[in-house]
Amino acid sequence: MTDTTAIPLYVNGPVQNGVFSLASAPGKAVGIRLAAALNALTGQAPVAHLWNTVTLAGDQRHRTAHRQDFPGLPRAEREARQIAAKYTPGPLPQSGVLTDADPAVAVLARTVLEDLLAHGTVRLEEDTVHLCARCGHMTGTGACRACGAAQALPARRRLLTHLLADAPGLPLEPEDFHAFRARPPAQLLHAARDVPDRLLLCRTRAHGIRLGWLGLDDAFVLDPRTGLHLACLAAAHHRGAARPVMALTDGPAAHIAAYGAPVRRFRGTQLRYLLHGRIPYDPPLLDQSFGIHRLAPELREPFTHWYLPLCAARERAGISPARLPALVKFWRRAHLRRPDHPDPSIRAEVASAAARGDFRWVTDISALPHVLPTRPPHRGRAPRR
Ligand SMILES: [Zn+2]
Repeated sequence: MTDTTAIPLYVNGPVQNGVFSLASAPGKAVGIRLAAALNALTGQAPVAHLWNTVTLAGDQRHRTAHRQDFPGLPRAEREARQIAAKYTPGPLPQSGVLTDADPAVAVLARTVLEDLLAHGTVRLEEDTVHLCARCGHMTGTGACRACGAAQALPARRRLLTHLLADAPGLPLEPEDFHAFRARPPAQLLHAARDVPDRLLLCRTRAHGIRLGWLGLDDAFVLDPRTGLHLACLAAAHHRGAARPVMALTDGPAAHIAAYGAPVRRFRGTQLRYLLHGRIPYDPPLLDQSFGIHRLAPELREPFTHWYLPLCAARERAGISPARLPALVKFWRRAHLRRPDHPDPSIRAEVASAAARGDFRWVTDISALPHVLPTRPPHRGRAPRR
């Protein structure tokens, strides 16, 4: 019997709920599509798509939009409408969406923070911070990032902090990555470790997970970089999965990793990262490649939504545009060699490889034809049995 808690549950990494649609900005959907493909290949049901809503840009949009449309529309509702717009003209995913400010994430955050406070991994400290004289945003040096005002005033505030010295390891280590024989790039490890000795885990935002129960000012929420790790853990807990794996590119990994360090391991659950490269979703270039290789129209969406994300997991440095015609050609060849009855042993081998982050089969013509999806993978259907 398969122990489903041992199979990694793939979840998408950070995607900010900005103003775009997945159809117009497919590059932002790579983590979502990759997670969907890998969960289906490993025999798991689709997982909720994660969206980040705790952003300064979102605060700004809500303030200005509030004056123009739907006065009185709560922030969470505005974020939900904006997420729904991402999927147009299609529906929301059947597996649902989960934001970093969802009540389920807030409940988990409380449990996790209580544990971390009890263990001394995070602390509550009174300290002097600088708050924008105009809008109250906690600023560093320089102009306010929220409103642009130049003047900041010192103020004493209760803060949630994490001292690197209190954590057992470094903020990011090779063991934090999920992949077969893949070493994370040295510059990524270096960038993620290049953080202050004391991390502030609270930020001034109009939307997010409030920390009033810890005695923090109402203006503070949990740092969004920590919050998106908790959203990933919440999605995993919902499914009873102990090994969530977040699919993301190098840049976001370096940006968020240190803030996830205190929460990546929690009561037997361990969150790891799967790095993937970028995909050159260039419509004219794709159309040209489809035309050259006379790829049937019904094979084009599975190529962009299923196959290219898997290629991006194999090619972590990114897929160069020059590679696209060869990948289209290989995709067509794989379909020509598709067997009437896929070999169960090859399917099992691929599932096992997909579970441990080994993607060599993606370009193996003896394996790929046996695991091709039969339905549009963005609808989250499992591959043909
Ligand atoms: Zn300001």
